[in-house]
Amino acid sequence: MDYILKGHNFDDEVISLLQLFFPNNIYSRKADFSEIFSDMSVISFLEKNRCTASLYKNGKKISEFCTDILSSDIKSVKRCIKISLFYCFKKVYDIKMPWGILTGIRPSKRIYSMWEDGISDSEIKKVLKEDYLVSEEKIKLAFDVAYAEKNIMEKNDRNSIGVYIGIPFCPTKCLYCSFTSYSLEQYKSKVDLYLKALLKEFEYVEDYADRYNIESIYIGGGTPTSLDEVQLEFLLSNVKKFFKKPVEFTVEAGRPDTITREKLKILKRYDVDRISVNPQSMNQKTLELIGRKHTVEDFINAFKMAREEGHKNINTDLIIGLPNEEREDIYRTFEKIRELDPESITVHTLAIKRASRLKENLELYQMPDLEKMEEFLNISSNFAKKMDMHPYYMYRQKNMVGNFENIGYCKNGRECIYNIKIMEEKQTILALGAGGSTKIVDSKTDRIDRIFNVKSVDDYIGRIDEMIERKKGGLK
Ligand code: SF4
Repeated sequence: MDYILKGHNFDDEVISLLQLFFPNNIYSRKADFSEIFSDMSVISFLEKNRCTASLYKNGKKISEFCTDILSSDIKSVKRCIKISLFYCFKKVYDIKMPWGILTGIRPSKRIYSMWEDGISDSEIKKVLKEDYLVSEEKIKLAFDVAYAEKNIMEKNDRNSIGVYIGIPFCPTKCLYCSFTSYSLEQYKSKVDLYLKALLKEFEYVEDYADRYNIESIYIGGGTPTSLDEVQLEFLLSNVKKFFKKPVEFTVEAGRPDTITREKLKILKRYDVDRISVNPQSMNQKTLELIGRKHTVEDFINAFKMAREEGHKNINTDLIIGLPNEEREDIYRTFEKIRELDPESITVHTLAIKRASRLKENLELYQMPDLEKMEEFLNISSNFAKKMDMHPYYMYRQKNMVGNFENIGYCKNGRECIYNIKIMEEKQTILALGAGGSTKIVDSKTDRIDRIFNVKSVDDYIGRIDEMIERKKGGLK
């Protein structure tokens, strides 16, 4: 989709609105009309006192919206640009947008920064409603999450860090997956080499990590339990060797088909105190459709086995909006999860990512519309209440029509510290392994510097010395 800017250069604001109404497009800026080749195009025009958005289809204007600019400060100018685009698109596409023009990934962070500026709750609510067009329901959700996070953030130790370790292997690739994940069918022979490279990174960051209290360690992926028992023990024994004992230690056990009693024992032996066992759906037909090679029974057995082995803090990840799922399927999933009584659930709304097989074959599946998604989200929040859980963290994904949210719910005291800290970006997170993105937060200024590892497993193994060099520049 093409767009033209006149009188300003706020590409980010324009693209964020395009992503809301025209997700999964490539947006290219053009200098003028003669360069436009796409069917749909947009012009955002900023004059001294007003801002106009116009939408064109095949060169013909189909909608326009103009708004006055009441203040010249940059924030309100950007907001007016977004408002003009929002109403211009809404005239043609009457899509419910419960988050209005609030396009950031972390709505609670917005509340946080207003709290820091001394703004009261009632004023914040007014701003969200009137300036950002957020619905009452979403304002309440954002506040619930912000308050839950606040409890954890108030205990923030400025001398603490979090550690993320990525294990990018899975038994097979799920239909909707766009993560860096390598199927073990093809990459089995690379796992030991990967762990060796990871160990080299552990050795390098040891001195840096030693200067801090380690608040959380999170081993994610991929599916960390797709390592075999010897490899898992090798990984965890080295985590223990190179890092101090954290307050919270999570391993995403992820796919039930990778979980064995022995692996659960190993996790316990190395003080892992939070695991995630993820069914995504409790409907067999869906599991088959999305390419997960486990059954509903496998999940239930893995969950029960984890309990038997003494795992007292279990999260389950669920996805709503999976292909061909209807209201009854969502109810079934939540009823079954409720029977198992996990300490937390994370409810994702399905995002159709460009890099996924789902995107390539979308026409083969029946996908829920926006109204259904909203209904599914309501079902999930009602079930969370019935399970005595409250929302404690939330993030939104770009490139989703309706721009829904992913929400972590938990029982009291079971908030995942790592999840909250990564969202609020107030703590350094040392990320190790392929695709790791280290965030170094300056505790005095909150400035964030990032160091990226390469995503590909082959590159990570082959270029591990370069990854360490990159960290040398940033970790002081
Ligand atoms: S388990 Fe997660 S990381 Fe692995 S293929 Fe499925 S979606 Fe991707």
